[in-house]
Amino acid sequence: MPAPRDYSRGVPEGDSLHRIARELQPLVGESVSIELPSPRARLLGLERLQGRKLESVQAVGKQLLLRFEGGLVLRSHLGMSGRWRLLDAAATPAGRPWLVLRGGQHAAAQWNGPTLELARGELALGLGPDILAEPPQLDQMLENLRSTAQERALGEALLDQRLLSGVGNIWRAEGLWRARLSPWRPLAKTGDDGLRRLLEETAGAMRESLRGQRPRYAVYRRGGRPCPRCSTPIDWRAQGDAARTAYWCPSCQRY
Ligand SMILES: [Zn+2]
Repeated sequence: MPAPRDYSRGVPEGDSLHRIARELQPLVGESVSIELPSPRARLLGLERLQGRKLESVQAVGKQLLLRFEGGLVLRSHLGMSGRWRLLDAAATPAGRPWLVLRGGQHAAAQWNGPTLELARGELALGLGPDILAEPPQLDQMLENLRSTAQERALGEALLDQRLLSGVGNIWRAEGLWRARLSPWRPLAKTGDDGLRRLLEETAGAMRESLRGQRPRYAVYRRGGRPCPRCSTPIDWRAQGDAARTAYWCPSCQRY
């Protein structure tokens, strides 16, 4: 039987957002002019960014925050289809981006939302610490994991962006495999040491990807194929409210 279609495929995870934040850094410090080629973006009030200096671009979990002078923060969530690209200042972006920020040396274009939101001041994002933050806020993430219902499974808790942010379906699967823990294991059965190891292994896998190493997945989308550690066939099943597919080795990942 083929592995079921994974609907989370394509949703950028924290490592992708960090990569985009890094790509956009050359535009930081420039005063930007605003273009809104897509009619969908004209209702968002983005023209308020006109002429402002871009002060920082930062990935927080699965979101990108662009801070502008005057305390304006543009929050971008890319969903399945949204993307950003850095371009030469004079380039004409393909298609109809929602937003083009054009500086003296560089430009950045954003296509296909789905979330672009402008706010004054820091947003109440309701997000747990970014798993890729430097230094990592392990204690806070651990405290958050202990503050939720302890019968919840590890695989479900890892995707709960209110507890910690940035982990999506790929790194949930790979992090749990590296830590040798089953996605179905309840938080209550897992000691603090186990949770720390899980956070460190997950962040480690994401950092390797961020550094540009081509990921070789051990379990993700490898349902029915042998576990690279013990050769047992990888199992898969939908997990959590969003019913995203968990992949795990039933032998060497402890329940
Ligand atoms: Zn195994």
